[in-house]
Amino acid sequence: MNVTVIGSPKCNLHDMGADHPEQPSRLYQINDQIIASGLEYVVHFADATSASKQDLLLAHDIDFIEKVFSSSPVENDERVWIDDDTIMMNKSLDAALSAAGAAIMAVDTVMGKQSKSAFCATRPPGHHASKGASAGFCIFNNIAIAAKYALEHYHLARVAIIDFDVHHGDGTQNIIEDDERIMFCSSFQHPFYPFSGDEPTRKGILNIPVPAGTKGSEWRELVSPWFQQIDEFAPELILISAGFDAHAEEDMGYLRLVENDYVWITQELKALANKHCEGKVVSILEGGYALSALARSVVAHLKTLAME
Ligand SMILES: [Zn+2]
Repeated sequence: MNVTVIGSPKCNLHDMGADHPEQPSRLYQINDQIIASGLEYVVHFADATSASKQDLLLAHDIDFIEKVFSSSPVENDERVWIDDDTIMMNKSLDAALSAAGAAIMAVDTVMGKQSKSAFCATRPPGHHASKGASAGFCIFNNIAIAAKYALEHYHLARVAIIDFDVHHGDGTQNIIEDDERIMFCSSFQHPFYPFSGDEPTRKGILNIPVPAGTKGSEWRELVSPWFQQIDEFAPELILISAGFDAHAEEDMGYLRLVENDYVWITQELKALANKHCEGKVVSILEGGYALSALARSVVAHLKTLAME
């Protein structure tokens, strides 16, 4: 089997309110498109287990982890704002632990060669969560936990994270900044939330700020320098922060990507994975809020991962 899609019903129950863009219908739409496209017969599905506090400690400070656990509401109708954009209700902690657990399971799935690649169809997303804080709809940083877990548990020396969400993966950069075993490539609309990514940083962190209105063909040229650097780095695992909010139909950002651009970047990264790490790719859903565009883009991404 080429692709395992990992999810959990618990991820559907985290609900920040009907007006909040990071909503359960994102996963329902993705699931619908997977069925409508016939991909359901091609991919393998797995249920995520929950991450433990020990797993969370790979990327987060203990004080922050305890704060999230103690903020978790007990009552059904209680809502707690844990930062300006992120709300917890009584199902949110379970969803966040499932999303982080799925990321770890995805690493186990590809490292154990059950499938070449794994995609986490999970929420909440993670790439804005830093060592010590939630932010921007993200509670725990799923991709950073996956990267650190791969390094520690499988004793890898080099992993690469590629983040093509419309927003800079500031939380991921915060967590991996002093860990040279991790290469981090992020392209993002700039200037734009979270208004980071344009400052000088260490070798191995490749930020590509992209102006609003940029089309797919222009974006491809801007991010192409990544590939030679990833090739030279020779990662033993490639991880993708797969946010689809740079899509042209998206109201949350102003880039102009379409499904074919996601096919292209997936092909490029798969070719590098085939060259350096027997095709091992772990991809984790980040943003994407225009529901139809999101679901079509995920299907395009999965079809590309599934191709021989
Ligand atoms: Zn985003």
